[in-house]
Amino acid sequence: MTAESSLRADIVEVGRRMYARGYTASNDGNISVRLGADRLLMTPKSVCKGFMTPDMMCITDLDGRKLQGDRDPSSEMLMHLEVYRQRPDVQAVVHAHPPTATGFAVAGIPLDRAVLAEVLTTLGSIPIAEYATPSTKALPEANHGALTVGSDLFGAYYKMETIEHFAKISLVARMLGRENLLSREEVMRLQELRGAYGIKAPAPICAVPGTEPQAGSIPDETCQVVQAPKGEGSRLVVSPKPSAAADEIRLTYRELSALIEDAIRSLR
Ligand SMILES: [Zn+2]
Repeated sequence: MTAESSLRADIVEVGRRMYARGYTASNDGNISVRLGADRLLMTPKSVCKGFMTPDMMCITDLDGRKLQGDRDPSSEMLMHLEVYRQRPDVQAVVHAHPPTATGFAVAGIPLDRAVLAEVLTTLGSIPIAEYATPSTKALPEANHGALTVGSDLFGAYYKMETIEHFAKISLVARMLGRENLLSREEVMRLQELRGAYGIKAPAPICAVPGTEPQAGSIPDETCQVVQAPKGEGSRLVVSPKPSAAADEIRLTYRELSALIEDAIRSLR
């Protein structure tokens, strides 16, 4: 098989897996790979990703002009083009709407708690982008389902699996009412380990996680927000239960720590 025909077959296979796992419904989602320095192979618009055939794909240039194919490229192509423009190292882009991860995004809850070592080493923190209307110019900068990139197509696809898997685990832990976080020290050790996994240049962890940038300061968009408390003390986050009795007071880990600190100070 030529490189192109094997890439066409790989896109079909990734589309089938995404649809089978419920990451896309109907004609949602799109997949692209670099075919050469200035050409992309991409899924067409208005087809179900679970039922594609290799001949359906479009070939475009890096500005999205169609060079080959009976069908038109994905209406969400702009998002892919923007990634390839900004990241010359990226060979493949996968976009889908995995329901649990997308639910977190819709609720405005980032998946940034340091919970699973394998997620921190492979993905790091999972941020939320701003929303914009699908297929508009604004989409490249917008949250719209999940977007993963990779140095090959299956690498990008497996990141999509990891995001949804992590979102499901996070949801179950929050429904059960508690999450035990890794410490900041453990997170920093994992950051160093990333090199051993072949993940180059991990984005640095933001200095103060979970806090708003100070007024007038320029936010560092290249660092990752990871919620991991310092030290070896308690690292349990207790979620408020919607059914909590009216006379119960529920506190977050941060609020509880602040109360204890206040109490200790007043004892001195
Ligand atoms: Zn979409």
